[in-house]
Amino acid sequence: MGRTTMTLLAASVRARMRVPRLAWPAVVEFRHVTKTYARTHTHALRNVDFKIDKGEFVYITGHSGAGKSTLLALVLRRTLPTEGLVAIAGQDLARLREGQLPLLRRRIGMVFQDHRLLPKMSAADNLTFALRATGVRGSLDQKALNALRLVGLAHKRKAYPIELSLGEQQRVAIARALVTNPPLLLCDEPTGNLDPDTSWEILELLNDVNIKGTTVIVATHSRDLVDAMKHRTLVLRNGELVRDDDRGGYSL
Ligand code: ADP
Repeated sequence: MGRTTMTLLAASVRARMRVPRLAWPAVVEFRHVTKTYARTHTHALRNVDFKIDKGEFVYITGHSGAGKSTLLALVLRRTLPTEGLVAIAGQDLARLREGQLPLLRRRIGMVFQDHRLLPKMSAADNLTFALRATGVRGSLDQKALNALRLVGLAHKRKAYPIELSLGEQQRVAIARALVTNPPLLLCDEPTGNLDPDTSWEILELLNDVNIKGTTVIVATHSRDLVDAMKHRTLVLRNGELVRDDDRGGYSL
């Protein structure tokens, strides 16, 4: 039997068997999520609906007050939705028990605008401290070194934060977020304190991390950042998701 015939046969067998596509749960799913802060009667998010799949790189954009931080707080289960469902890897966060929270947070790396490194600890010690805090055991130094290598800073492992440039400090913060090998990395204005060149380097680093398989979500109000490297972009305005654009770019 010729090669072409075999290929056609295999295709027709597959068609007849109707092999279903495996339905992996989304990494992040918001289903009709509304978040109201009762005390101030603020509707921070209104009926927000989206899914982020494994391996995506997504910007969450919008002006200050649009609801970006509230969205991140819901993903980290620092707060619960007033209505609707937030699920991480198929798990409804409202049903998560208190004891399961540390595991959830170990699976989500977090990078902030200000690096929040501990000033009296070296780069490597900042990472081993984070590992210990999340209950990881064994070969912590090696894990820290691997993560620093990932961000190109293995040679600075003994440096204290004050001995590093702002860009390097943010790289160490990214290494710290990745040291537990989380499948999801959340970044809240990760280049907010950086000049354009350093911002670009950080963006390239996040892109590399994404290419290696980590799902990356970057919340930012920066038009420059979103325009610098195009990725799927969710745009919030007054708590509503007004755009979900695969090609990206910033327009409100
Ligand atoms: P962004 O991160 O895009 O600036 P936020 O999620 O911080 O937006 O805020 C969305 C809206 O919710 C704003 O009107 C803000 O004042 C309000 N808000 C945020 N956090 C709280 C809170 N803890 N209590 C009351 N209102 C809040």
